[in-house]
Formats: sequence, C-alpha cells, structure tokens
Amino acid sequence: MNEKIDLEELVVDLQIRGARLEVPVASIGRRGGAGPTDDKAFLFDGQTVMVPTMAGFATDSPYAVRADGSGFVITRHGEPLTPVAFPDRPRFYALSTADGVPYWQIAVRHGADVLATTVVQTCIRWNSDADRCRFCGIGISLRNKATIPVKTPAQLAEVAEAAVRLDGVRHFVMTMGTINETDKGALYMARCARAVKAAVDLPIEVQFEPPDDLDVLRQVKEAGADSIGLHLESFDQEVRERILPGKARTSVDTYYRAFEKAVDVFGEYQVSSYIIVGLGESSESIIAGCERLVDMGVFPFVVPLRPILGTEMQDVPPPPREVMEGIYRAVAEMLERRGVTHLVSKAGCTRCGACSGLPAFVQGKFNGNGRQLPLVEVRPRT
Ligand code: SF4
Repeated sequence: MNEKIDLEELVVDLQIRGARLEVPVASIGRRGGAGPTDDKAFLFDGQTVMVPTMAGFATDSPYAVRADGSGFVITRHGEPLTPVAFPDRPRFYALSTADGVPYWQIAVRHGADVLATTVVQTCIRWNSDADRCRFCGIGISLRNKATIPVKTPAQLAEVAEAAVRLDGVRHFVMTMGTINETDKGALYMARCARAVKAAVDLPIEVQFEPPDDLDVLRQVKEAGADSIGLHLESFDQEVRERILPGKARTSVDTYYRAFEKAVDVFGEYQVSSYIIVGLGESSESIIAGCERLVDMGVFPFVVPLRPILGTEMQDVPPPPREVMEGIYRAVAEMLERRGVTHLVSKAGCTRCGACSGLPAFVQGKFNGNGRQLPLVEVRPRT
C-alpha cells in the first residue's frame, strides 16, 4: 500500500502506447473531430488524461483497463497498477434541440469539466488532398454522423447553458476548421462566443488560424472569448510544408506576429499553441521554439502525435517515450521558472491539460498532489 507509481512515466506511456479496454466502459469515447482524437478520458485522482484506446497501436499496448469490484484498474502486462475512473455519461447528452438535433452532436464533454465543440466541422484545407493536414480527422466525425457540419450560435448557447446547469462544466473550448483565407473563421467564432456568454457565465477558449487582419482578435475578445489557441503544430517550416502543407503557407513569422498581438489582447498565457511531437521535428528545435513561446507569454501545449484511424498518418508510430520525457522536462522547467502552470489559463485545452503530459511534469501542480499516484491493493482476477 505504501508503494507509489511514477505519474510522469505512466502518463507519457499511456499517451504514446494507448490502453486496451478489457471491459465495456459506460462512457462515450471520442471518435474523429479536429485535433488529437480517438482518445478516451481516464481520470487519475481527479485529473483527466486522454488516452488512445481505439488507435491500431493501442491493441499491442502493455496497458489495459479491467474491472475491479465496482471500479476499474489499469494493468501493465496483466499486473494491476493503479485505480482509474471514467466520467459518467453527461446528463445533457439526453437532450435535443427543438428541431431534433441531439445536444451531443453539438458539443461534447471532454474529461470532467470541459465542454468542447468543433463549431465548423469542415475545412478548406482538409477538402483538398494537396493541402490537408496529414494527421487531422476533422472530416471523419461528419462521415460517422457523430456531429453536424455547422453549429449555430443559438445551438451552442443552448447546449452550453444545459451543460453548466446539468453537469457542472466549467469551461468551453470551441475550435473550427478553416473556412476562408481572410478572417479564417474568427468572426463567426466571435458570434458564437457572444451568444454563449449571453446565455451562461462560462470561460471560453477559441481556436482558429491567425486571421489576416490581426485587429479581428480584439473583436473576438470583446465578444467574450477568454483564451485563444493559435496552433503552429511545428516550428520547422520543412516539416510544416510536408505534414500541414495548406497551413504552412502561413509562415512561422506570421504566427509569431499573431502571438504577439494575441498576448496583447488576451493577456500572458491566455494564448496557447499546440505543438505536436512526432511529426519529424528535432527535439532541439521544439525545445528552442517552446522557449521563445514561453518568453513571449504563450503556453506551448506540447502533445505527442496520436495517429487517428482513417487519416493518412494512422500507421505512423507515436514518438518514443524518452523523446517525450526530454521535451516535457525541458518545457516544464521553463514554465516553473516563470511560476506558470496550465491552471493559469482561464479556459480550453491548456487549462484542461488532458491531451498533454505537461501538467504531470510541472512540479506539484498535478491536481495539487505532486508527482505520484498510489498503488492500491486490487483483487486478483477471477
Ligand atoms: S486538452 Fe483540449 S482536446 Fe484534449 S481533452 Fe482537453 S479540451 Fe479536449
């Protein structure tokens, strides 16, 4: 009972190797969408960690989930390791709009307390074979009828209000495909944020590509957005051109100008950027880029590549554990030096932290419990 399991090791390992579900877990796993999907929310001591369970590589994982009494336990090579829980099915999933759209097709809960939606589930880049981000599954949820193509501001407001009232969600992340080459969808996002804020007091993160006219960012803030994600994905232009060719036409320098403006408008560390490890960029380049972001008040939301079924990168292996650990340690140190944790962010992916191992690496800030999880007694399998 006094033994402990190293939390950093477990989070990194689970996110790159996935876990097999040896039980039907009665909550809905994400499938498709924009960003890192195909994951299920695992709860360790109250903190959510998104773990791939449907990706091909998860079938060979040494980790599995199995029932233990009335709960669940993680096993490694068949040996029980630590307890794990799963969020209950949200109550708002049972509702539909007046015109018959189920609320769960409009927004879903990620982890314990985040509401998430892809406001526009189509993308001018994804629609072109040449321009598509090779890792992105934005069109897949639509094919699976897990969502609808465009959510209206009124629909989002209605679902957000219900999710707060019925399920106690605490923040809302709204992402979108890129819908044009000018404002990139930011103005539509502003309308959505305004409608949600009029319906319910809920911190909101918005995510889109940098708009042409950076003054649009102020309109988005004034509409009610609290935090913003502008996702560079990689600092290496050669990697960007290979993996995200459409987005790569917006240069890294343009992103830095957008970051600067966004920090001015939203405040330090209310701006973040997904940085995906495993696209081919060197660790040195990633660490140097993250240092520059942290210096300018941007939170580098470092995640491992978790290949999504049905995408061009579905068979690419996630990055090795040593690589992830090295990058997490370096970035955690930069953040610690400035006294910054993911909880500085008011809303969205950074605040949630579930898709990244970073919260586990920032000393003592993982849900206030430090770096270790208890190993508990589990009954042998019968
Ligand atoms: S980090 Fe973002 S994408 Fe991942 S579970 Fe949290 S809100 Fe969802």
